[in-house]
Amino acid sequence: MDTPLQFYPRNPAAPVAEACNADPIVGNRVELQLLTTLKCNLKCSYCSLGVGDVLGSQVHVEYSMDQLVAFAEQHLAGKEVYVTFYGGEPTLNRPMMIEVMQRFPHWRFQLQTNGTLLDDLPDWVLAKLSNVLISIDGGEATTDGYRGRGIYRQVLKNLRQTRDQIGGSVTARVTWGNPATTFDELDGLVEDDSPFDYLYWQFVADEMYEGDSVERRKAVLVQLIDRFFASTDKLYPLIPLMGMVRNKVLPNRAQELYAGRTQCRVSSHLINVMPNGQIYPCPDMMYVPTMLMGSVQDNWLKPSPLQQAPSMPCGSCEAYSWCRGNCMKNMYLGYVKNDLRYRANVVEPICDLLRFMGREIDRHDPQAWFSKLSLPVRRQITDCEVYEYVEVMP
Ligand code: SF4
Ligand code: SF4
Repeated sequence: MDTPLQFYPRNPAAPVAEACNADPIVGNRVELQLLTTLKCNLKCSYCSLGVGDVLGSQVHVEYSMDQLVAFAEQHLAGKEVYVTFYGGEPTLNRPMMIEVMQRFPHWRFQLQTNGTLLDDLPDWVLAKLSNVLISIDGGEATTDGYRGRGIYRQVLKNLRQTRDQIGGSVTARVTWGNPATTFDELDGLVEDDSPFDYLYWQFVADEMYEGDSVERRKAVLVQLIDRFFASTDKLYPLIPLMGMVRNKVLPNRAQELYAGRTQCRVSSHLINVMPNGQIYPCPDMMYVPTMLMGSVQDNWLKPSPLQQAPSMPCGSCEAYSWCRGNCMKNMYLGYVKNDLRYRANVVEPICDLLRFMGREIDRHDPQAWFSKLSLPVRRQITDCEVYEYVEVMP
């Protein structure tokens, strides 16, 4: 960073009006994603932090807890703050997790982890976690294929061992990269004796949509969506389907927590603090200097630079009312940076899958299905807390 200035915000690029008026955080909630380290004990072949050599580049947290307190007092006062411990693999820096939880006992906490070190966390830490997102890629063969031999079993063993100590929900977080991923392996993650409460997936943001792979994914989506609507007394706990159905049945829910912006929160209230104290809206874009939006040490924060732009096609898209722009990183790279290869090989296939999902959901008459739900199931569709921790859209 350059020489500190004496006023707020210290970022010389921030317009004067921002300094006086605008709250950089839109709304009353803020997700503080604290990257406790950029080191990881696995080497997943598709890791998004590998882009720009971010992974492994910072191992130590360079800001003090007092600086984090000062930052929170300056920029987060009066907000409902929830922390996601993120990395790298966040459990490699347990002392930092513990210090934050002790220093801010009134905040809400989530852990995003690969699950391999879950059993090293103290019971009181596990008890305070509202949600644990565990990265897994599907069944054993798919997961071990990306993460290394034996990882699937190790994660499941750790999870079964710690499940009763975890205070909140446990969500399987799948990056759907392999086009050969089957309905059965995704379904298996939420079957009755599974330690997972929910499944959330994102379509991989990489060039893995060639040949018939989009059609193969669509065939699995048809099965998942059929299964989702098959019952009205018990929820099929797949967050993207729950969220899309909620958005179709109650369209304002797609907007209210994000002021109408993207549901992945990067444009409104998600701030990622790198171990060196720099703040970015999207954890996958911490290598892009123009995305810098604040600093803990220098105690400044400006509104997220990652916003919808006129060059993005969302406004005229059939999916916009319930999709709301999905992944801003993808849209930014494809339409603002105008990376035509990324647009054709990653963004357009994902948008095709999203629109397909919307039509499949409509085929099942979500309004009629919703009206038959028992009240507890209906409440999960409308108010599931996990929506606050993930991107909602896949
Ligand atoms: S499907 Fe794609 S183009 Fe359509 S709203 Fe979603 S992100 Fe935008
Ligand atoms: S969905 Fe949002 S947070 Fe996730 S990579 Fe895309 S822009 Fe970043």
